[in-house]
Amino acid sequence: MKIESLLIHGGIDGDESTGAVNIPIYQTSTYKQPAMGVNKGYEYSRTGNPTRKALEELIAELEGGYAGFAFASGMAAITAVLSLFKAGDKLLISNNIYGGSFRVIDKVFKNFNIDYSIVNTSNLDEIREAIDDTVKAIYIESPTNPLLGITDIEEVSKLAKENNLLTIVDNTFMTPYLQKPIELGADIVVHSGTKYLGGHSDTVSGLAVVNSKELAERLHFIQNATGGVLAPFDSFLMIRGIKTLAVRMDRHNSNAKAVAEYLRSRDEVEKVYYPGFEDHPGYEVQKKQAKGFGAMIAFVLKEGFSYKKFIESLELITFGESLGGVESLVSHPAAMTHASIPADIRRKVGIVDNLIRLSVGIENVEDLLEDINRAIEKARQ
Ligand SMILES: *Cc1c(COP(=O)(O)O)cnc(C)c1O
Repeated sequence: MKIESLLIHGGIDGDESTGAVNIPIYQTSTYKQPAMGVNKGYEYSRTGNPTRKALEELIAELEGGYAGFAFASGMAAITAVLSLFKAGDKLLISNNIYGGSFRVIDKVFKNFNIDYSIVNTSNLDEIREAIDDTVKAIYIESPTNPLLGITDIEEVSKLAKENNLLTIVDNTFMTPYLQKPIELGADIVVHSGTKYLGGHSDTVSGLAVVNSKELAERLHFIQNATGGVLAPFDSFLMIRGIKTLAVRMDRHNSNAKAVAEYLRSRDEVEKVYYPGFEDHPGYEVQKKQAKGFGAMIAFVLKEGFSYKKFIESLELITFGESLGGVESLVSHPAAMTHASIPADIRRKVGIVDNLIRLSVGIENVEDLLEDINRAIEKARQ
């Protein structure tokens, strides 16, 4: 089955006992056990729930992995995956990972003596140099947030395997419709399901997929032991959202391309970050490893134009945190997602005050361009 069909029919397709086309919301905490030591596969909903199970099988199939796990948020999924490590272990992490992922590594796992080094994972030599006996995994995002840096997942996974390291990829920006890290050699994929997979800005969720029985057993143990599981209703919403992922992503992709090109054509715009531009340093790698360029864009307004005025002049595009929903969202990385990074470091890596991030939604593209045009006109100081 091709992915467009798998999104709709993958995992557990419908309810066998009633014929219901959709998996019911099994709103139950426990299950009747007919006799001691006998059950129908479920004992308690932290350990397993049929609605969650349907989502877990679906994401495993979509990512081409051995098993999937659903959590109450992306951060809960990432926390569970990081719990595979122990004191004395060290992780190599991309230099531009999601702020919350960096925070849990830096402020929580560090307390348990799980260490990390920040590397530019677009540069294999830099990774190679950072590997020592304590390093157990490489944690990457591609593209990164907000500057859309690209890492060659296949090359990094190869290098990781040669050194007995796990490769963990946060695939939130791409989704399995556009990019399949496990097929490229990664061991574990994590998602904030809150974003494109759910797709409607109505559910917070997280997913993890592993490529082996051994990792599946260990991660299921952690999921059950630590308990950050996704509720049945939210699991249902995720399955419902995933059904339309292909059509949404196609529109996200084409809208984003039009918006990126439009921004680049404007004199008021200094720079546009979009991996779909042929002169983007990661363009060739992105083309090789993904089926599209995604719908995250960042751009810098020229001096004399105010990011504040721009954002406040938008009428259709919503100002807010998050991304990946059907509606277009605008955010200001320096004051929002990346505010915890000291200003001088922030500017050095390119997150200047006039940098604006767009999550391009699936509205009519003419309406989006008109909104952006209006805001640019009003941004002049
Ligand atoms: C949002 C996000 C997360 C965290 O997910 P939550 O669902 O908000 O907990 C992790 N990684 C990336 C790339 C994200 O965009």
